[in-house]
Amino acid sequence: MPFKALNLSESVLRGIQAAGYTDPTPIQLRAIPVVLGGGDLIGSAQTGTGKTAAFALPILSKLANHRPGMPARVLVLEPTRELAAQVETAFRDFARFTNLRAVAVFGGVGYGVQRTELKRGVDIIVATPGRLMDYLKDGTITLRDINVLVLDEVDRMLDMGFLPVVKDIIARCPKNRQTLFFSATVPPEIQAVASFALRNPARVEVGVNRSVNQSVNHAMYLVSFEQKFELLVALLEKTNFDSVLVFSRTKHGADKIARRLKAANHSVAVLHANRSQNQRIEALAGFKSGKYEIMVATDIAARGIDVAGVTHVINYDVPENPEDYVHRIGRTGRAQAVGDAFTLVTPENASDIRDIERFIGQKIPELKLEGFDYKPLSARPAPPVQQGARGSLPGTMRPRSGFRRFGSRR
Ligand code: AMP
Repeated sequence: MPFKALNLSESVLRGIQAAGYTDPTPIQLRAIPVVLGGGDLIGSAQTGTGKTAAFALPILSKLANHRPGMPARVLVLEPTRELAAQVETAFRDFARFTNLRAVAVFGGVGYGVQRTELKRGVDIIVATPGRLMDYLKDGTITLRDINVLVLDEVDRMLDMGFLPVVKDIIARCPKNRQTLFFSATVPPEIQAVASFALRNPARVEVGVNRSVNQSVNHAMYLVSFEQKFELLVALLEKTNFDSVLVFSRTKHGADKIARRLKAANHSVAVLHANRSQNQRIEALAGFKSGKYEIMVATDIAARGIDVAGVTHVINYDVPENPEDYVHRIGRTGRAQAVGDAFTLVTPENASDIRDIERFIGQKIPELKLEGFDYKPLSARPAPPVQQGARGSLPGTMRPRSGFRRFGSRR
């Protein structure tokens, strides 16, 4: 079914065309009619499924025109600054043939510019909970006209301790509103928030929550702790990558990896919560533009960020929560492009990787990098060397002709 058949407005259809989308993704097909019909919704979908457009397109269609001098009608809550900025950009992109106005509201930057934007009048506010609360308290923002509330990445919002403030924000919205709720997983504590915020929600599930994108090739490399960095450098050397996201468990670890990669002559950006907002914006923009070929990130900072053209994800550290594996891998292979995901596993992490395999319901093949001088591992024996076992793994990468390296996003 094409977008045209979904009853979206003409100007939104033009925005979709300009974004280069031809057909709706499964979550878009299922969520757009619900949102247009005014019903509440719980959407569970893995990242990279097109969920932003699944709510943004019908919302923009319904808003139709800007209302000068009136309070915002749509509030979207996001867990991180990066996501808030990204989702606001998506709204602006899709709304380019309308006069609707979207503003991102998040912490870590001054209040001045955001206040000026808000005073000019907005239809859609995309916000992180903390900064939004500041503006609610000082009267810069009122939620009295909100008729659509979107709670995005709810599981992560709760992980980050936003539950009390999120509940406070929900309570400040008019009772008579539409609420859309998106979460990769819906465990009982999230179900509790959903019951508090939603009325007779339709459930839209796309794929299995635990599943990783099928267009991603996985592999793990067993290595001793002492040789991890050496193996990372060797993998980068042998891999024909366009852009790589390297994940570290800790902020300190991310800084250290970045320092060492720079010393090995790579152009590297770093993204974690201790960096200033300006540093984070610069890192992300530089990574998107190709100024940096590698971005080293922690889980929270990278959650949900959309960098079209990430060809590889390297888990320098095995993620602590199996769910984070799915999110990390969601950064590559987005929207059907092919991506590779490597995980460096030390004997100490062998049980974590088994937890991940159980969680995602699939084995992660174990490979050895050819020509790498492995030191003996104590915990489990190394597998035999596999040569060219997987088409796109080091040494035998396919050229990515025609691959859209950078997204249409600004
Ligand atoms: P999301 O899950 O919202 O983060 O979207 C993941 C990626 O898919 C983004 O780069 C979107 O621009 C892209 N995308 C979303 N919907 C479509 C579509 N219908 N056709 C092609 N790409 C899409």
